[in-house]
Amino acid sequence: MNPATTLTPSLAIVVVAAGRGSRAGEGIPKQYRAVAGEPIITRTLRALHKGAPQAPILVTIHPDDKALYDAAVALLEPAARQALREPVAGGATRQASVRAGLEALASEAPDIVLIHDCARPFVSPQLMARAITAAQASGAAIPGLAVTDTIKQVNEEGRIESTPPRALLRAVQTPQAFSYDLIATAHRLAASTGQAELTDDGAVAEWAGHAVHVFEGDPENMKVTNPQDFAAAEARMLGQLLDIRTGQGFDVHAFTEGDQIWLGGVSIPHTKGLLGHSDADVLMHAITDAIYGALADGDIGSHFPPSDPQWKGAPSDIFLRHAAQRVRERGGMIAHVDGTVICEAPKVGPHRDAIRAKLAQIMGVDVSRVAVKATTSEQLGFTGRREGVAAMALATVRLPA
Ligand code: MG
Repeated sequence: MNPATTLTPSLAIVVVAAGRGSRAGEGIPKQYRAVAGEPIITRTLRALHKGAPQAPILVTIHPDDKALYDAAVALLEPAARQALREPVAGGATRQASVRAGLEALASEAPDIVLIHDCARPFVSPQLMARAITAAQASGAAIPGLAVTDTIKQVNEEGRIESTPPRALLRAVQTPQAFSYDLIATAHRLAASTGQAELTDDGAVAEWAGHAVHVFEGDPENMKVTNPQDFAAAEARMLGQLLDIRTGQGFDVHAFTEGDQIWLGGVSIPHTKGLLGHSDADVLMHAITDAIYGALADGDIGSHFPPSDPQWKGAPSDIFLRHAAQRVRERGGMIAHVDGTVICEAPKVGPHRDAIRAKLAQIMGVDVSRVAVKATTSEQLGFTGRREGVAAMALATVRLPA
């Protein structure tokens, strides 16, 4: 064997996420929609990074989706975020979007490139390894599955014209894997000759005259396209998160001089402030501790020691973001948080929805998973005497079984 072929090839990944995803129904493009509490694109990027931790990942997006993209990748672990290159604007067709991604990787000069559809979040390290091996061997390789349905070719009136032998048919998936130079050249050639509607990269390589090989795909590597796909993907992900835990948190801060207090990341005007080492956001502290509690992972004080001056006056969203990240690092999701603020004043009700929205954004979950309630203590005890504010919280977390 030629020793050169045993060297580890350099690898890069292009993710196609520029589509508008109208088949999944109205609303934001499907790749940014949440499945089991997290956008599809976040899950896809995490899975790709897991399968190839050294590979740079470049995503082609629709220019209108930059804010959605930024919010989705903010949920990734730091190592996965570091693998991401600046996203590039896709084109009018899938083919044009892939080409834009390939051109943007030119300076990386990878040996092998994997091209993956953003709508396939279940891509496994094993499938990626097969793709890389196949591309090293043949230069152009795509994953395929034998079809179980008989396929008919029909004319425009729907009349059958032929029945191709099923044994010779394959349903193809992504990641498709290529020698970078081969596929970049094929894309440039196709674009320069006006060939613009090829629906996968295997077809681009084929059109350019290359032999394209099919390797074994993965039936789990489903494409999430239609509303029923979303339901199936959600069920599958929740089915992997069967270790369901509840944690509680409790916190108190005393009133001091001031003209506002922070509750759940929202500034509320008041005749007093709250005393604390950080911004004294009593509700956010209770929720953060509830999440740490569900993980059996210490408390705010153990992760952010009050003796450390760097947390003096710190905005408490640092703490909550950290706790939510710890859940994701374990492969889990925050199913629900429920916080109760206990004080005679200020009134929390008028700010409830703003607080819920802010907490949801910090944790990276849908607002429907965040409850905020308030009560007085009927003028009894320290909260009744208006000496301070107390908060209680529960967090329900789902982790892989
Ligand atoms: Mg506190």
